[in-house]
Amino acid sequence: MAKKLEEVLGLLGGVDCGACGYASCAECAEAIIAGEATGEACVMIDEDTQEKINKL
Ligand code: SF4
Repeated sequence: MAKKLEEVLGLLGGVDCGACGYASCAECAEAIIAGEATGEACVMIDEDTQEKINKL
């Protein structure tokens, strides 16, 4: 797995709840890396963590 994908995935909620509109955290992480979503997509993490994702 690409390092950046691994980093984003490591910060996401990790419960594959689908609340972000993606079927899994891995799909959400890929969308974030592709610039199609931001850290705010994940409803399971706090603002600081969302911000961290956006800075990766
Ligand atoms: S909302 Fe967060 S925890 Fe739920 S599937 Fe999306 S990235 Fe994973």
